[in-house]
Amino acid sequence: NKPSSSNFLRAIIERDLAQGRHQGRRWGGSPGDGNHHAHGEPDPARVRLRFPPEPNGYLHVGHAKSICLNFGLAQEYGGVCHLRFDDTNPEKEEQEYVDAIKDAVQWLGWTWEAHGTRHLYYASDYFDFMYRAAEYLIEHGHAYVDEQTPEQMRANRGDFTTPGVDSPYRDRPAAESLARLREMRDGKHPDGAMVVRAKIDMASPNINLRDPAIYRIKHATHHNTGDRWCIYPMYTFAHPIEDALENITHSICTLEFEDQRPFYDWVLERIVPILREPEFRRACELVERIEQQGIEAGKEFALRCHNHAHKLDHSEPEERMRALFQKWERDRDAVIADLPAFFALLKSQAHQFTPLLAHALEPYCVEPFNLPHQYEFARLNLTYVVTSKRKLKALVDEGIVDGWDDPRMPTIVGMRRRGYTPEAIRLFAERIGVSKANGWIDYGLLEAAVRDDLDGKAPRAMAVLDPVRLKLTNWAEVFGSANHLEPCSAPAHPKRDDLGTREFRLGAEVWIEREDFAEQPPKGYHRLFPGNMARLKYGYVVKCTGCEKDADGNVTAVLAEVVPDTKSGTPGADAVKVKGVITWVGVRDGAQAEVRLYDRLFNDPHPDAGGKDYKAALNPDSVKVVQAYVEPSLAAAAPGTRFQFERHGYFVADARDGRLAFNRITSLKDTWGK
Ligand code: ATP
Ligand code: MG
Ligand code: MG
Repeated sequence: NKPSSSNFLRAIIERDLAQGRHQGRRWGGSPGDGNHHAHGEPDPARVRLRFPPEPNGYLHVGHAKSICLNFGLAQEYGGVCHLRFDDTNPEKEEQEYVDAIKDAVQWLGWTWEAHGTRHLYYASDYFDFMYRAAEYLIEHGHAYVDEQTPEQMRANRGDFTTPGVDSPYRDRPAAESLARLREMRDGKHPDGAMVVRAKIDMASPNINLRDPAIYRIKHATHHNTGDRWCIYPMYTFAHPIEDALENITHSICTLEFEDQRPFYDWVLERIVPILREPEFRRACELVERIEQQGIEAGKEFALRCHNHAHKLDHSEPEERMRALFQKWERDRDAVIADLPAFFALLKSQAHQFTPLLAHALEPYCVEPFNLPHQYEFARLNLTYVVTSKRKLKALVDEGIVDGWDDPRMPTIVGMRRRGYTPEAIRLFAERIGVSKANGWIDYGLLEAAVRDDLDGKAPRAMAVLDPVRLKLTNWAEVFGSANHLEPCSAPAHPKRDDLGTREFRLGAEVWIEREDFAEQPPKGYHRLFPGNMARLKYGYVVKCTGCEKDADGNVTAVLAEVVPDTKSGTPGADAVKVKGVITWVGVRDGAQAEVRLYDRLFNDPHPDAGGKDYKAALNPDSVKVVQAYVEPSLAAAAPGTRFQFERHGYFVADARDGRLAFNRITSLKDTWGK
């Protein structure tokens, strides 16, 4: 798993680690219980990342990139990655999707178990805390309940050219907002009647900061919390809280969220006191202990706090603290005399873990005081597919594809059934790296990764996809009986002896590809045409003598004579020189199989760019089903086994309906967009 390229996220993590930002933290416990350090065993993780899907559909190749990025970075830097279900929206979420997402992450080769702890979380487990944070923001003048209609709110938000207009409810007393919020919580109001809004700035050039909603009424049953709540937090409010409660260090998301980053930070900065209550209680104990150690220790600590004076805010106790500090600047000796007042002030802050206290206590605390930071990277757009759960769901719901796991789907279950390997998808994710600018990645890169992974692993086999019968008319004469079967063998893999050999038999009739015979050969054609010789791969040289046709002139059989003593691997094999070698399957010992030849799902490389109607770009020929013949060794292929069919590409056995079937994973060469 050695990374082959660097990226800006690695650079950020390495910078933070070099600065010791995340060293020595204690981790652990389940944050959901609001008591998240209680069962915390020391955990050596240094970086803590998360993959936070909403369980409202099956994951696609874009999510795979995000999974590989987050779990990969965690693994690389000795950290952990949480799998967190971002299930704050009750209506669209289902257990089926939760299970499928867990399965997808594991199939890709990742685990949320680390250092003996299971890091699997549900955002809905934090609803109590999120509600509390809403009340806290209201109490401190940072939020209010707005009773404008949704239309009024929309109209008053303004746009890129016009500032917004303050709501008439914006400056209502905190007690009034709090009362309304509790009524909302208690189910006293219908959906849409009112919302809780953060009080930020209705004139901000960043529209996301124009008093965004943080809680709304939704009388809906939730897959995890049932009917306990009829109000739900907005995603943009919930997300920073989830990250902070789980002690995430680097919160990596896609570029669409760049404009949300100021709000992410705004929320966290304001709720620090309640986020850090356990640390805060510990801090108060420390203050107490320092005070008891005597005057010298007390003075040293007071002066350390003074060094952080610029972090004081304008609350009443902090203003008094500032006055003390200013006095000390003029008169150093005053420190000792003021110590009792200083400690009293610190302890009077006992319900709040202020930034000042936090920084001053940092050397004494087990935990440094870090909030998560959000970093954005460009989402993956892959040519010839769409990567949006909503659009993929429409394809499933409207029966355009056969389900989420249709092998044409860019979902993880679809790619899996198509025969893509987890290793190939991880290789692809690593190769495309991360970027700060949106763009399209060529689907050919994904296929190249699939080929590069399968080339060294997949056993070879022969299959005839467009069969026509080849009759060897002198077979009985040469071998003494029309029923004679000549054993042939071939290496399972040209470079891997460890995979052994495969055995099959050549008889009087074999299946060959229709395109391997031409009555009138085009220039440079070396396969079968009357009078020409070619080799049946791993078998004999044959000489074409003609063909049989039906009334319409279609070729129904190709005729040839076997050339004695030319069997591959025998001393006489090279006696007769031929330019063409063709693949074949014996009529007597070959197995019939359905083969599905997949092509791209859309004809347009950018099916949904610029809001285009992606359904208009569907490729009507995205799957072709043929009846083929395959080597006998494939008759018992276990579902999921991958092969390279010589000259045709890579295929995977798929026994969904009990019949032998193979899906084409990819051709041997890049044909996308050609
Ligand atoms: P969709 O738009 O397909 O519904 P989403 O972003 O709404 O996707 P989430 O379940 O919220 O889906 O996504 C979980 C994580 O996957 C997020 O962190 C998101 O940034 C990431 N992600 C989603 N789509 C892509 C993509 N195309 N490329 C990279 N990362 C993605
Ligand atoms: Mg989403
Ligand atoms: Mg989405």
